[in-house]
Amino acid sequence: MSDQMKQSSDGDRRHKRVQFIKRVIIALVITVVILPTALCVILFVRMNRLEKQIAELLAVREERNVTVAVDEVTEDKAFAAGKEQTDAAAAGVLNPSVREKEAVEASSATVNAGTKKIFLTFDDGPSVYTDRILDICKAYDVKVTFFVVGKTGGENERLYRRIVEEGHTIGMHSYSHKYSEIYENLESYQEDLEMLQSHIREITGVTADICRFPGGSSNTVSKVPMQELIDYLEAAGIDYYDWNVSSGDASGTKYTAGQIVDNVLNGIESNNTSIVLMHDAADKEQTVEALPLIIEALQAREDVEILPITEDTAKIHHVTQKEK
Ligand code: ZN
Repeated sequence: MSDQMKQSSDGDRRHKRVQFIKRVIIALVITVVILPTALCVILFVRMNRLEKQIAELLAVREERNVTVAVDEVTEDKAFAAGKEQTDAAAAGVLNPSVREKEAVEASSATVNAGTKKIFLTFDDGPSVYTDRILDICKAYDVKVTFFVVGKTGGENERLYRRIVEEGHTIGMHSYSHKYSEIYENLESYQEDLEMLQSHIREITGVTADICRFPGGSSNTVSKVPMQELIDYLEAAGIDYYDWNVSSGDASGTKYTAGQIVDNVLNGIESNNTSIVLMHDAADKEQTVEALPLIIEALQAREDVEILPITEDTAKIHHVTQKEK
């Protein structure tokens, strides 16, 4: 082998070695720096998302624990009260608390052969499930009613707007949803509701003029006689809506989507007008799962119409304004 050839093959080997070391360094950099960084970014995003969900779930739980009486329990009691009224109306007993003619007609067991009007209502949103509820409504071309609470931040603002833009009715529930605060006195109730009304108006441009009392108008938590709050609403031009069908999603989380479906489908049988109580909240995934099944079952019937609450909707009241 000539010296020249030997030199060039040495150079080749050196060049290859350098290339090899370069590749090793690049591989090292990738494994030591870039991969972990990418992983960190992915994990960070996921962690943030989970943290948000946890915060929302905790808020829901805290609300449950802190409030004087749990919405759920109160709403169930109120529902029982509403049911008693239905029974009384069915028995032909004059029920002084059901003033509106339509309401009597609606809650009476003597159901007309005509169309059944079903109003699906969702309390406590917006939540992590609002988008899914809205997607389902859109897919089935159904309009519903949301009784919202006060939530801030871009994501919640987007959800209030989506509710309105997609043609659903936006009603008021409570800004704070803290029973102990809102039912302390008339002023605190009024302040809370007005705050929610302007919150909704600022974000959506809509002035909500219907509401649902937390726990219903027959709740036993309020320190103010409910009649006073009802009088205030009437003076303010705000209608309130209770419910005469409970989906059962109010009581804890120990129920299945199938039970919710059964509760609703059985509940509507005895009414011409059914206002169905459901929840849009972080711990109510079963409600979201039940919703398409409920809508499909209702839409399969000729005698059923699903509608959003409007001013023409029969008032379903657990406690009504006294005759003057
Ligand atoms: Zn509520």
